[in-house]
Amino acid sequence: MFERGLAYRKHSTVNWCPSRQTVLANEQVVEGACWRCTTTIATRDLEQWFLLPRPRQAGRFCDRWVHPIAQE
Ligand SMILES: [Zn+2]
Repeated sequence: MFERGLAYRKHSTVNWCPSRQTVLANEQVVEGACWRCTTTIATRDLEQWFLLPRPRQAGRFCDRWVHPIAQE
């Protein structure tokens, strides 16, 4: 699946809604609180695979990342 050199693993910090137990995108955080339940958000460290986006694939990469967490 991964061509050599095109993917790497990295820890990243994400926004976390403790109430809904879900990851929030930056757009879903309003003034430090969850946009839906207004709970103050926490942060979590996640280890995940990143694909090194080539210029033409940058948009697709972003969609893949944003889509699953936008289904809150
Ligand atoms: Zn929430």
